[in-house]
Amino acid sequence: MKITKVEALYLRLPEVKEQCDSGQDAVVVRVETDAGITGIGEVDSAPLAVKGIIEGPYSHQITAGLGSIILGEDPMETEKLWYKMYDANIYAGRRGLGIHAMSGIDMALWDIKGKALGMPVWKLLGGGFRNRVRCYASSLFGDTPEETGELARQFRDMGFNAVKFGWSPMGESEATDIALVREARRGLGADADLLIDAGLVWDAKTALQRAQAFAEHRIFWLEEPLRADDYEGYRKLSEGTSVRIAAGEEESNRLSYIELMDRGKIDVVQVDLTRCGGFTEAMKIASLAWDRGLVCANHGFTTYINVAAALHWLASIPNALICEFVAEQETNLREHLTLQRFRNRDGYLDIPQAPGLGVDLNPEAVARYRVA
Ligand SMILES: [Mg+2]
Repeated sequence: MKITKVEALYLRLPEVKEQCDSGQDAVVVRVETDAGITGIGEVDSAPLAVKGIIEGPYSHQITAGLGSIILGEDPMETEKLWYKMYDANIYAGRRGLGIHAMSGIDMALWDIKGKALGMPVWKLLGGGFRNRVRCYASSLFGDTPEETGELARQFRDMGFNAVKFGWSPMGESEATDIALVREARRGLGADADLLIDAGLVWDAKTALQRAQAFAEHRIFWLEEPLRADDYEGYRKLSEGTSVRIAAGEEESNRLSYIELMDRGKIDVVQVDLTRCGGFTEAMKIASLAWDRGLVCANHGFTTYINVAAALHWLASIPNALICEFVAEQETNLREHLTLQRFRNRDGYLDIPQAPGLGVDLNPEAVARYRVA
């Protein structure tokens, strides 16, 4: 089997609002083969820059469009192709964008492998640790503490027993920050888990004060309170509190995760399959976390392609903690992009069992939303 075509499709809602919502557009990677098998993947990063890295021309030995250098290769050779792509993008690709773009291709290659062998990706990864994963409803905070409490009640009514709220208005003031957590806990009740995503708003000492204040409301974890590059701040924070500290969605490539784990001393390693380097890299990150006694969770705020990938990965590692799941269904793109959708069942998501990723693109949605 040989790779015959690699493309990045940019899909976008007719109106994209300036708000914290990465579900308004999507980059889908499609890899075709001479066997008639097509694999899909996703990248959650700067859309047209990703498209450029994937579809761009061969420039020279260490700067080459990723598609150009894997054409004609055997898609089963995922490990080899990962390093081939890495070596072809040393300037733009050691961290960030190049690794993000590789993630979508790697994901599509694993989808092809699964379809070719008639097995779900988790089985190819040697998984089978679980056939369902506990999930949390992932949401932004309401505009006020009271609205946040109301949202928490709604998620309970939808059957979730773990809920995460994140970003603005967290960081406005000590009083608001504490009220947001208090009302979230009040809306959720005592018997559910509350996760807080601060959204990069504090320095280490402020984060430590907040962690201490939030502990009274029994939070499950405190996510990304600091600038992603503040590894020393993460260390001070983690060493100073018994609240679990979660981070990782800004990292790409296992070497940057090692910084976060060994310097930052975080507790929960969050991995976005559409950014970290794909399945090939995510498995290594989970191993590095396990070696250090750490647990892993996915990060995902985009489409069901990302959700499916996360579920295959979480089923394939020993140290999976919980799965992020965007519960709001109003984003048309997410609901229509794939023929399959995922739904919470008693607070869990079932691991896909169909060959490959187990999700197929809806051609009508692609035709409707594709802009590049
Ligand atoms: Mg987050």
